[in-house]
Amino acid sequence: MKTYDAIIIGAGSIGTPTACFLAQKGLKVLVLEMRAASGQGDNKAAIGGVRATHSDPGKIQTCLESLDIYSTWKETYGFDVGWKPGGYCFPVYDEKIENMLKSLLPTQKKFGLNINWVDAHQVAEIVPGINKEGLRGGTYSPEDGQVSTLLAPIGFQREAQRHGAQFNFKEKVTGYLRDGDTITGVVTNKDKYAAGVVVLAAGADAAEHGPMLDLDIPVTPDTHEAGISAPVKHFLAPLIVDLRPGPEGKTVNFYFGQNNEGQIIFCYTPKELFIGTDRESQSEFMPIIANRMINLIPRLKNLLIRRIWRGCYPMTPDGVPIIDFAPNPKGLFLAVGMCGQGFMLGPGAGKNIASLIVDNKPVISDEANKFFRYDRDFYASKTEALK
Ligand SMILES: Cc1cc2nc3c(=O)[nH]c(=O)nc-3n(C[C@H](O)[C@H](O)[C@H](O)COP(=O)(O)OP(=O)(O)OC[C@H]3O[C@@H](n4cnc5c(N)ncnc54)[C@H](O)[C@@H]3O)c2cc1C
Repeated sequence: MKTYDAIIIGAGSIGTPTACFLAQKGLKVLVLEMRAASGQGDNKAAIGGVRATHSDPGKIQTCLESLDIYSTWKETYGFDVGWKPGGYCFPVYDEKIENMLKSLLPTQKKFGLNINWVDAHQVAEIVPGINKEGLRGGTYSPEDGQVSTLLAPIGFQREAQRHGAQFNFKEKVTGYLRDGDTITGVVTNKDKYAAGVVVLAAGADAAEHGPMLDLDIPVTPDTHEAGISAPVKHFLAPLIVDLRPGPEGKTVNFYFGQNNEGQIIFCYTPKELFIGTDRESQSEFMPIIANRMINLIPRLKNLLIRRIWRGCYPMTPDGVPIIDFAPNPKGLFLAVGMCGQGFMLGPGAGKNIASLIVDNKPVISDEANKFFRYDRDFYASKTEALK
């Protein structure tokens, strides 16, 4: 049987950077991916927003790491992952949302985020053409940005392979090898492999592994809609998050930005969540999101929409990922439940996971890292206000 230091299940937003950073540390890595290439799961459903603008300290510090990695990837490794600086702006028209966002600023600043409340005039400069009626101001975090979800996994895979990592595609993990209470490898539809550690990074399918491991993996996928326009002249630097209740009456956020190619790319959380993994896209959300985008930036009314799709957020009960060794069985590392932020968490999480496995310490602070622990009470509170 072939033996590896680490086996990673899933070559997605989390699996590919994890492979890269483990291989950089000298481990012999095998990545097993049931799809035909890296990044073809929910990774490619993401619209590529990368922000450290969160309310949860673990996410703030992990995404600061990610921003550092994404923004310097081209100069470090010579491969363009489509990094576009420009920040994130949360424009505010509502007192309640203003108070909520302002209340998060002390934690965000404490954990290292460059973010400020800016007045309506400044928001109008940052977001040209924004509807100024009732605009109260907003938050602006200039160091956030955007990355291509199609290019990033290729960048990580290439760097991992340069350090000897092996990627097996169209190979599904169907079971585990055990020695007592320790995982010693995996079984796939094609073969068996032994490993010192197995990293479960199976995204929306993570909970399926629970029964194979006698472990509760509290990840429930729900689906979200997205779309992309034909390219237009560059005018929008930041990604915009609109937290106002839509016509549905609920505070469901939607967010959008303009990518490197000039396309407007957007995502929408439906009024009633679609629980499960049905990724069949529907067009019902288009009139809703079109109205909201035009209401916010009227000049978007002539956009030609090219394509829409639907993908999963792998959710945990408290909206925070699990990035931790499983308590039992041993030899298993859980990198699951990335919610709506797996792409932005990916590089920082990958670096953190490699450090936890190889050096037994996180790259983020212990205080921030404890939010990702498996042994927390998932039902105690919803710690993450900015989903
Ligand atoms: C519409 C939409 C917009 C989004 N926008 C953003 C955004 O702007 N920014 C952001 O950060 N996040 C965004 N997200 C969320 C992001 O896409 C997810 O959080 C992220 O992709 C999850 O990463 P992952 O590695 O856990 O899962 P994935 O990227 O799906 O990777 C898991 C991989 O595991 C493989 N796999 C599963 N089971 C097995 C098995 N048994 N054997 C072998 N392989 C297996 C799968 O094929 C898959 O490739 C968005 C999501 C959606 C739906």
